Formats: sequence, C-alpha cells, structure tokens
Amino acid sequence: MEDIKNLLADKKRIVITTHINPDGDALGSSIGLHSFLDKMGHEVCTIIPNDYPNYLSWMVGDEDLINFSDNKKKSSKKIEESEVIFCLDFNNLDRIKELGDLIEVSRASKILIDHHLEPTKFYNYSIHNASASATAELVYDLMYFMDKKSIDKKISECIYAGILTDTGSFKFPSTSSKVHRIISDLINRGINISKINREIYDNNSIDKIKLIGFALSQKLEIISNGNVAFISLSRKELKDHNFKKGDTEGLVNFALSISKVNMAILMIETKERIKFSFRSVGQFSVNNFAKTHFNGGGHKNAAGGSLDCKLSVALDKLLKSISKYSHKLNY
Ligand code: 5GP
Ligand code: MN
Repeated sequence: MEDIKNLLADKKRIVITTHINPDGDALGSSIGLHSFLDKMGHEVCTIIPNDYPNYLSWMVGDEDLINFSDNKKKSSKKIEESEVIFCLDFNNLDRIKELGDLIEVSRASKILIDHHLEPTKFYNYSIHNASASATAELVYDLMYFMDKKSIDKKISECIYAGILTDTGSFKFPSTSSKVHRIISDLINRGINISKINREIYDNNSIDKIKLIGFALSQKLEIISNGNVAFISLSRKELKDHNFKKGDTEGLVNFALSISKVNMAILMIETKERIKFSFRSVGQFSVNNFAKTHFNGGGHKNAAGGSLDCKLSVALDKLLKSISKYSHKLNY
C-alpha cells in the first residue's frame, strides 16, 4: 500500500475499471475509490464494461463514468491518456474482453485490487486477498491507509454496499470481526444502512418477482440425492417475463436455501452464450468446478462460467459434470 500511496503522491490521470455485469461490490468499489481519488485532486474516470443494474443507480452521482459497450472510442482515448489504471474486483483481463485488450497494451501503471482466487499477473501493484469479504473491504483498507479523514459519507455508502452484497448481508464465512469493525466505522461516518438496504433489496419490479415465482414453481429441479438444486431459464422464458438486467440476481440463493442442498446452479440462455452461476455451502469448491468444466471461476462458494452452445447441450454437460461429484456433494 506504501507503493501505491507513493505512486499517487502527485496528481495523476487515472482510469478505474471493473468486471462485466458490475454488481454491488464492483460498482461500490469503483465509485467509492473514484470519489476518494477525485477528492485528492487526481483526474479520474471510471470505465464499466457494460451497464449496471437499476438497484445500484443511487450510487452514481456526477462522476465521469463511461459505459465501454456504447462508448468504445472515448474509453480507448481515456485508457491511452491514463498514467494509472485500477482494476477492481476481477482477477484476469480476459474477464473484460475487448476492454482488457486495451488495458493490456497500455503503458500505465496497473493496480489490481481484488479478492478472487488465483489472479493472473498483468499488474504492477496489487492488493489481493482471497479471504477478504469484498473488494470494497480492500479499497477501504487502502483509503484508510492513504487518508482516513477523506472517507466521507458518500464513499462510506459505496463501501458498505460492496461489503453488504458480497457477504450475502453479512452471513458468508468471509464476514470477519474486521468486517463488522469496518461497518461500525462507516456508520460513524454517517451512512443510513436501512436506506441503502431498501435501495438494494426492496427495489424489485413486479416482473422480477413474477420471474422468480415462475422459476421457483416451474423450473427448479433437485438432483444428486437432494444435494444439488438447479434452475435453467431459456431466452424465451426470460422474454416472456420482460427480463431486464439484474432480474435473476439472488435467484440462485433461493435454490441454495433448500435444506440438504450443498450446491445450486442457475443457467441462463443469453443471445451469445449460456451463463452459469454456481453457489455452494461448505467444503465443495464451485471455483474448481467452474474452472474445470465451464471456463469460469470466482470464489470457493460463489463462481460463474459460460459455454458457447445450445441450452440443451449445456444442460447435458451440467448433469454429466455433477454426476462425477455426487459423493463429494453429500455432507
Ligand atoms: P455470478 O454468479 O454472481 O455472476 O458470479 C459469482 C462470482 O463468480 C463473482 O465473484 C464473479 O466475479 C465470478 N464469475 C462469474 N462469472 C465468471 C466467469 O465467467 N469467469 C470467472 N473467472 N469468474 C466468474
Ligand atoms: Mn467482489
């Protein structure tokens, strides 16, 4: 952290970026760090690979925030001009595809701040800890080290949102006593936790609730002696329920909440590919599972992946892969 503080001792042109389909931690870490660096007098721009879901829009103010998918030219110019690039909440430039290619060839100093397992080494500096509850926790540590007085209410709200969402509301094993001490500090900096929780969790559209209802009543399947639950949703089913970005968020956790279920999977058919969300409780590593069979990764208990094939082929591959682990999933 000393190195990063020294690097930022004088005014820099900085780009912050994060993973595709930004979630609470990705956006919270980015906007929180953005506001902080802005306050320190740097020229900051945040580039997100694609749009963020509606329930996070309260976080975004008048920051220079660019959506790469519809502003490639401007993004590319900002990256070219930057002296420092922060990569937040992802461990591999492949995860952000075309945007990652631009970052790879940039001559800027690259700083990784992340808590995913096994990052590839594309950076010059890093704050990496796979046991951290969220990237937002690591961003908080850096800001606290650099200038704790500058962590204002708005920055605190962003950090809170990141930790809240990535710990499943403070219930995952990563929720250490340090996490609770950080939250206590953020509350002392003036955040309204019930307001933020309402914004994030009680902001559902009727379509989203009906889609969840449909998925749970019609599409939930239990296999592997009751240890695995999965839901698959086709493009047509999503379209029939007026699917919008973020509408399936949290759905996989309903499947995981069933008694005896140790792994849950959500399979979504998108225009380009089949996207998987994997969750587990306890010892079974969905990171390894996603890496071995689905071109993915993430954390031990929460990972994702994808296949370029038809939904029926992906389902077949999923069932075959799970059958290899049925003994390991029974605990
Ligand atoms: P989600 O299921 O919510 O999309 O993702 C769960 C976790 O896995 C997140 O931490 C996310 O960053 C990671 N993840 C999701 N999809 C992929 C993927 O395709 N590759 C890798 N390496 N990680 C992923
Ligand atoms: Mn995260």
